Amino acid sequence: NTFADIDLGDALNQNIRRCKYVKPTPVQRHAIPISLAGRDLMACAQTGSGKTAAFCFPIISGIMTGQMAQRPRGARTVFPLALILSPTRELSCQIHEEAKKFSYQTGVRVVVAYGGAPINQQLRDLERGVDILVATPGRLVDLLERARVSLQMIRYLALDEADRMLDMGFEPQIRKIVEQMDMPPPGVRQTMLFSATFPKEIQRLASDFLSKYIFLAV
Ligand code: AMP
Repeated sequence: NTFADIDLGDALNQNIRRCKYVKPTPVQRHAIPISLAGRDLMACAQTGSGKTAAFCFPIISGIMTGQMAQRPRGARTVFPLALILSPTRELSCQIHEEAKKFSYQTGVRVVVAYGGAPINQQLRDLERGVDILVATPGRLVDLLERARVSLQMIRYLALDEADRMLDMGFEPQIRKIVEQMDMPPPGVRQTMLFSATFPKEIQRLASDFLSKYIFLAV
């Protein structure tokens, strides 16, 4: 019933201690082992439930321990291994800050890209390398169209506040983004969908994007 009981690796466990997290929240206690076991997941999670750590820990742990294929080097194109999609600039920045703390001294690099702000600094951040990309859907589509980001190597996809992203009209962008990930062999990508509500549209996203997923309501 503590993080020490979950095998996340020494570096990540040390960062968790630094964050003063001792006991996993309910969503963390259930979601992390499911993700570490390689299963897709649709989870019911409200703000404040600890969902950020629930999807960040398995991603960081997986990148650190996983056998990642050699990434191509495009002229200016970067190839992240994980993508976290979130509806707003504020939420993306919050996830970025947390993910940086969790990945401190692990060698895993996290970059954020959101709309409504100049793209140049974000392009420079990307050029320095990226393992985990946190992004809003519109800005990511822009980066894909400019061929500055490729999703060919994505191994982990997390959709945060999926219901809010749909409410904001991001479904076409999300579908366009996920379509670009279908290059790797099936079963290679692991997907986690977090949402506070489960209307039909969310269930449809889940059946389109997840494979043999576990539904978690805590
Ligand atoms: P979230 O729902 O991910 O936005 O997290 C809500 C707040 O709870 C954030 O400030 C986290 O840093 C904090 N938090 C998340 N998980 C834990 C935990 N296991 N123990 C203590 N605080 C936590």
